[in-house]
Amino acid sequence: MTNNFRVFATCDIGDALNILRTRGYQLEVYPEPTAPPKALVLEKVRSGIDGLITTLRDQIDAEVFEAGKGTLKVVAQLAVGFDNINRADANRYNVPFTHTADVLTEATAEFAFFMFGSLARKMWPAEHLTRENKWGFWHPYLPFLGDEVTGKAIAIIGTGRIGLAMIKKCSGFDMNILCYDPAYQNLVYVTAIQDTMDLRHARGIQKEKTWIKYVSIDEALSQADFVSVHVPLIREGESATPTFHLFNERTLRMMKRTAFLVNTSRGPVIDENALAKALKENWIAGAALDVYEKEPLSEDSPLRDSAIEDRCRLFPHFASAAKITRLSPDPDKGMAGRCVQGLIDVLEKNYGGDIKKMPYVVNKEAF
Ligand code: NAD
Repeated sequence: MTNNFRVFATCDIGDALNILRTRGYQLEVYPEPTAPPKALVLEKVRSGIDGLITTLRDQIDAEVFEAGKGTLKVVAQLAVGFDNINRADANRYNVPFTHTADVLTEATAEFAFFMFGSLARKMWPAEHLTRENKWGFWHPYLPFLGDEVTGKAIAIIGTGRIGLAMIKKCSGFDMNILCYDPAYQNLVYVTAIQDTMDLRHARGIQKEKTWIKYVSIDEALSQADFVSVHVPLIREGESATPTFHLFNERTLRMMKRTAFLVNTSRGPVIDENALAKALKENWIAGAALDVYEKEPLSEDSPLRDSAIEDRCRLFPHFASAAKITRLSPDPDKGMAGRCVQGLIDVLEKNYGGDIKKMPYVVNKEAF
């Protein structure tokens, strides 16, 4: 098949781009590892490209859609989160945009789980002890002990795709599970997990009975030993349940002093100054972050304070950063494959050209 579509990718997303080349697309890829300046994106869009491949580093708003008026047919984002794309602007200009939901769900959930393990079992200070040759003797409790994850209670904040996958992983560790989601409650899934927990107990696979239930945010935060955040970034006015600074001084103070917080969602969901204070003043036991209010994390961030170093794990927006998840050209396995397929669906008018039927388009309401 030969197509003359022109596409600009703001980033190299690997072999999946060959699918477009093979189909005859005129593809230009921004060659640097950093994001292109907005002026360059505007220039490319103004030059009449049909499709734009983006990452969460690109700000896609009215300026971009205006530049592509009459020519830009699709924006294909390599991520499930799309808070960098102004949905209202896309709708006003009638441009569909796609995302890569589902294919990164398990990878992100497992990373969140490993973050809890690393944080609670003090893997980072323990390795430092060994590497720095400060491990002088084996002792029952010196120089420190970690907290078990198995058998504890976890609060899942946001029970969408990744939250549900996290629930599945936590149930395998015999955890009790508190769910909070004001907009979507999957009672069928939660009942199936409870049935599985009961069966595991009945068949002697787990010693203690465990439970899962939906609760209020107050209950979730005040009862949990671990709190895992899986919400989209929703700013004030964008929905009835915004998530901007959902974790602030008030909500952090609701958590147990022995509890741990993990955020793999989006940075601005947590007020970082409040979190640094909470860690410094021991309102909570520890936190592990994969995402930040400003990325990359600034050099003078209070989260880098050496006083909280042992209780604050910092990762570089890495939760979906696994080989198959990021790069597989198979749209059922990789973000790159799904991103390319989303673009093709729109440009080549798959599904009879009905955008509402295209599985990876986000803003279906505009069509
Ligand atoms: P999803 O849309 O399936 O689930 C999000 C859930 O959050 C929904 O059920 C929604 O009802 C709920 N929610 C909305 N407002 C809420 C609130 N105020 N309180 C509690 N819950 C609320 O999305 P998903 O696929 O599970 O992904 C979640 C987010 O994770 C993405 O939007 C993205 O920002 C982030 N993410 C990060 C990485 C990473 O590499 N760190 C990877 C993948 C996704």
